[in-house]
Amino acid sequence: MKDFLDKSLRRISEASSRAASRAEKLREFSHITTRDSLLEMVGKKLKDRRLVLVSNREPYAHVFRGDKIAVIRNAGGLTIALDSIARALHSTWVCHGGANADFKVVDAEDMVAVPPHEPSFHLKRLKLTRREEQGYYEGFSNETLWPLCHLCYVRPKFLPSDWKAYDEVNFKFAQAVAETAEKGSVVFLQDYHLCRVAYHLKGMRTDLVTALFWHIPWPNPEIFRILPWKREVLEGLLANDILGFHLKYHADNFLETVGLGLECRIDWEKNRVERGDRVTQVGAYPISIDFDSIFRQSQSPSVLKASRDITAENRMGGLKLILGVDRLDYTKGIPERLEAFDRLLDTHPEFLGKVRLVQIGVPSRTGLEDYQQVVSNIEERCAALNSRYSTEDWEPVLFLKGHQDFDTLLPYYRMADVCVVSSLHDGMNLVAKEFVAASSNDRGVLVLSRFTGAARELEQALLVNPYDIAGFAEVLYQALTMSPEDQKNRLERMRVTVAENNIFAWAQAILGDVIRVADSQPLKKEQEA
Ligand code: UDP
Repeated sequence: MKDFLDKSLRRISEASSRAASRAEKLREFSHITTRDSLLEMVGKKLKDRRLVLVSNREPYAHVFRGDKIAVIRNAGGLTIALDSIARALHSTWVCHGGANADFKVVDAEDMVAVPPHEPSFHLKRLKLTRREEQGYYEGFSNETLWPLCHLCYVRPKFLPSDWKAYDEVNFKFAQAVAETAEKGSVVFLQDYHLCRVAYHLKGMRTDLVTALFWHIPWPNPEIFRILPWKREVLEGLLANDILGFHLKYHADNFLETVGLGLECRIDWEKNRVERGDRVTQVGAYPISIDFDSIFRQSQSPSVLKASRDITAENRMGGLKLILGVDRLDYTKGIPERLEAFDRLLDTHPEFLGKVRLVQIGVPSRTGLEDYQQVVSNIEERCAALNSRYSTEDWEPVLFLKGHQDFDTLLPYYRMADVCVVSSLHDGMNLVAKEFVAASSNDRGVLVLSRFTGAARELEQALLVNPYDIAGFAEVLYQALTMSPEDQKNRLERMRVTVAENNIFAWAQAILGDVIRVADSQPLKKEQEA
């Protein structure tokens, strides 16, 4: 392993003098999964089976722009990887159609071909009533499962009406899949919105093989057992053939929860749960980013120019930049970050006038009161910091509220001296990995909460406990005063990690496993759909 790492680092540093060609070098590593190698592997292994993707969120949304209809692409890392697969394999993607023109463009079966410029796969859109959306999405998904699975002392809500809507909507998703999936298809479900889909689907179609990836943490059994519908949720998840989590720790928590909550046999050696004649393979698949593309984009002249423009516009020349990029969610530890920054300025006054915290924050789940409070809390804290420390020509905090396109984020990643991820609990955290890929080549320190999945992989980050404000402030100090050589070494090692464990490697691992299950069950092919 050491030899391998040394070799990788040597090759990366050889390439460092030719920044523009560096990503090309990384791509030459034969062990690195690329978009092309993933597509080749999945296509080959699937043989004549089809792949059906299912997620709450749609990869393309149709919206009215005046009296015309425009298409918006949801450009998250996961969507990009699955979009490539869906295009190459001409898959069907079942999702909630939530945009205002979504049902103006569908056919009689609520299907539409995308992407618009090069139609190559189909979305099957599900129409939900406002009541269904409230109960299923805002209610059970975001006010029950989300706080239940993230340990940050926000009490989950348990409303029978939310649960009912959630289960009904999951049934609808299952029906939509059952209507469209060809015989023997592999179905890949995303996230905690859909934990009952496989259960309903297997009642309708016995020929389908399913995998579900759970994008958030799984708590320990003590925490999970307060859920009044724990049996139904566990049975729902165990209806899948493959169940993926980011970390082995989450997978183990899940197995322990199942062991305490249901009659079943758990094979701890093989990470399998057996209930009756059903077997669920549970595994860890840490999700990631499209390193290659982000790295290359961040080196482009337009990103460098944008960095210079932002510095000039905000009078940041000569200031050290601490960056935060988050959805405005109570799990992200943003108030703790602002408190630690306050303490840094208080205990290290030499930084007054020398450093600025730029916090990019996207309002999220704005219909929920807990989330409205997050936004006002952060706004108040930023204002208080600025009123306490500002001088005529310097403000310590710049809060940029609103969603930024990825192209707009890149210059900030590239400019930042320090990127701070201080989640109180986070399944993975992609911002940490994006910063590693997009930061300057020889400068940049990642301060990363120990309570993120990313902390397990990015060992060279400065790890922090966001609840310990004094300790957090000292880590910020350490980050701001780290030697250039130390910064460069740490960054390079983290880049090797993220380049190797990229989003395509993630998709290859989980899809490879579900296709293996499908191949081991040839009988299913014979059964009638
Ligand atoms: N992001 C974005 N625009 C913004 C802020 C964030 O596109 O203004 C993206 C960011 O690049 C990252 C994602 O949102 O890909 C956040 O993912 P993460 O895993 O960090 O947290 P999540 O929001 O999924 O909990």
